[in-house]
Amino acid sequence: MKCRELIEKLDKQKSLSHEEWVRLISDFDDEDRALAAELARNIATQMFGNKVYFRGIIEFSNICKNDCLYCGIRCSNKNAERYRLTVEEILSCCQEGYRLGFRTFVLQSGEDGYWNDGMLTDLISKIKAQYPDCAVTLSVGERSRESYEALFRAGADRYLLRHETADKAHYCRLHPENMSFDNRMRCLRDLKEIGFQTGCGMMIGSPFQTADSLALDMEFICEFKPAMVGLGPFIPHNDTPFAGYGAGSVELTLFILSLVRIMLPDVLLPATTALGTVDALGREKGIMAGANVLMPNLSPTDVRKKYMLYDNKICTGDEAAQCIECLKRRVLTTGREIVIDRGDHKNYKHKNKNFK
Ligand code: SAH
Repeated sequence: MKCRELIEKLDKQKSLSHEEWVRLISDFDDEDRALAAELARNIATQMFGNKVYFRGIIEFSNICKNDCLYCGIRCSNKNAERYRLTVEEILSCCQEGYRLGFRTFVLQSGEDGYWNDGMLTDLISKIKAQYPDCAVTLSVGERSRESYEALFRAGADRYLLRHETADKAHYCRLHPENMSFDNRMRCLRDLKEIGFQTGCGMMIGSPFQTADSLALDMEFICEFKPAMVGLGPFIPHNDTPFAGYGAGSVELTLFILSLVRIMLPDVLLPATTALGTVDALGREKGIMAGANVLMPNLSPTDVRKKYMLYDNKICTGDEAAQCIECLKRRVLTTGREIVIDRGDHKNYKHKNKNFK
């Protein structure tokens, strides 16, 4: 089958065989990409109208016990200047964010042991008490099921944990020996079962990634049915073992974005900062390829440069308000508009948030 036919088949059946995925991902050309983008964009319009949801991301600690080979805040990077925001600082980011119109706060950090369950649940309860109309998304890595349950009970609504790659052998080449693919997958299953709107995702073009590993990613996403999928190009960081590798391609990232949208029409799909870093118009292109979420940075300006997952990360010098004005303008060029809304996944809109 031609790539064009495979894209049409995916649109109809919402899945492909492993061989079909490999074929599509290895052989597509610009025309196929344009077709996938058009289908994906139309699906996004049917699902969300003209709307693009904004989430304010607060990078509240870059202290991390893990040593992921690709990541700039890995524990063995001695050049990373470490920081941890206080509860008060995080709350003032939320205050500013609320004033600017955000109704979702994404709290992201390295795996920082200081933020144990007590500390995190306290923080979540405070945010939810002050901003009951806002959603809280966590992105704080692998924890026990009990810990995830406690965070959910405290009021967290969503959880982002990229699976990074659904290919176990590939996972082992991206992570040190003390991290395990099985545990990451266990975390994702627990999060979904507990009731979080759960996001998985992967980097595109990470070292040793093949069409076969991306095919496994697509099959995993198809089966897991996440509420959100975060994907962006891999970008090397100078102080990591992957410093010498090239960044992932914009075209492949956009194509995969479109395929995810076609496969899961109602999924929440951000055009990521990494995409905006490898291409000045990357996020606009992401929206044109089917993305419907943007995640402007709400972290205090003085710490932004320290949350360097990869080199040349954009928006590290701006104030939150500036970031939003810039992104609003960018969204308008795509013919869409941003909305003030929690932007929940449709399957979760009416769920009772209190875990029993
Ligand atoms: N500690 C949290 C947050 C990790 S940072 C967790 O484990 O989920 C968020 C995401 O940034 C990671 O999941 C990874 O996919 C991405 N990332 C890290 N280093 C990157 C790099 N060099 N290039 C592109 N994306 C990267």
